[in-house]
Amino acid sequence: MKKYNFGAGPCILPREVIEKTASAILDFNGIGLSIAEISHRSKDFQPVMDEAQALVKEVLDVPEGYSVLFLGGGASLQFTQIPANFLVKKAGYVNTGVWAKKAMKEAKLYGETIEVASSADDNYTYLPKNFDVPTDLDYLHVTTNNTIYGTELHKDLDVPVRMIGDMSSDIFSRPVDVSKYDCIYGGAQKNLSMAGVTFIIVKDDVLGRVEREIPTMLDYRTHVKKGSMFNTPPVVPIYTALENLRWIKAQGGVKAMEKLAKERADLLYGEIDRNKLFHGTVKCEEDRSYMNICFVLNDEYSELQDDFFKFATERGMVGVKGHRDVGGFRASCYNAMTVEGVKALVDCMQEYEKKH
Ligand code: PLP
Repeated sequence: MKKYNFGAGPCILPREVIEKTASAILDFNGIGLSIAEISHRSKDFQPVMDEAQALVKEVLDVPEGYSVLFLGGGASLQFTQIPANFLVKKAGYVNTGVWAKKAMKEAKLYGETIEVASSADDNYTYLPKNFDVPTDLDYLHVTTNNTIYGTELHKDLDVPVRMIGDMSSDIFSRPVDVSKYDCIYGGAQKNLSMAGVTFIIVKDDVLGRVEREIPTMLDYRTHVKKGSMFNTPPVVPIYTALENLRWIKAQGGVKAMEKLAKERADLLYGEIDRNKLFHGTVKCEEDRSYMNICFVLNDEYSELQDDFFKFATERGMVGVKGHRDVGGFRASCYNAMTVEGVKALVDCMQEYEKKH
């Protein structure tokens, strides 16, 4: 049976990216060695790092003056690394869910941190709008896609201060105006690669403004200076990132990814809105995520929760269980999800509706 991977992350990657990674693990570029067993400083690996960094810049149209890093530690380590490097006097955070809150908690260890806006009052089912942003912030931190709640900023905010974006779950799914951000970061295990590498796009001239001593490994300057090779980088996930970036470029880049994302989302939200059994959890239609599509059973059918999950799983739908904070179902539709996959889920929802 064909399986469709709707898991939230680690998650679906293009099949050819997986195959190329598998081949490089067996024999990298015909050198008779695995990519996993060669030095990261070798002449064989350096071009992988160079091309992956260059492709991030090309695909996202990153302006001059930014560096691309591939580090370990996940997005969660960035929650600490961001304030360590950027919080001079005061930071602002938009609280749109668990990940934003975790980021804010770490910033408080480094200095004054304010919650500029929040949607906690309604379990993060919408994105805060028209909020005031103090102009004396060192940065405003935003989570552009809220993986758990299925809300997404489809356009970069217009605010009077520099932004820092956690783009763990929507990077490379739409064009981004990088010039508005001092730093963009995320765990790679959604739209970029497998787990194990973190991407960071950092504006060079903002580094070094804080007076505090930053531990060597947390200081972005360490990694910028050494081209992301200060210590041993996660070579295999970086190779997978490279192959995925080549794939994104070949598909037509982030504009093509955005078009496809919208097509998938229109299909699935269309069915959620039509089907008598379900409704979407995000209150404001314009905030609906294209990446993580969350829906629940209507009250009168709520006892069918486990049954629908079983029904869908038996038909090849993988990972559609909603996060425990939201319940119901979450179909994650990252770049590699095909329209065919979404149609299969829609068919499954329609078949289930006929039974009830
Ligand atoms: N930020 C967002 C938006 C996420 O979705 C996640 C994980 O799902 C994280 C941060 C944490 O990422 P990591 O597991 O790489 O630390």
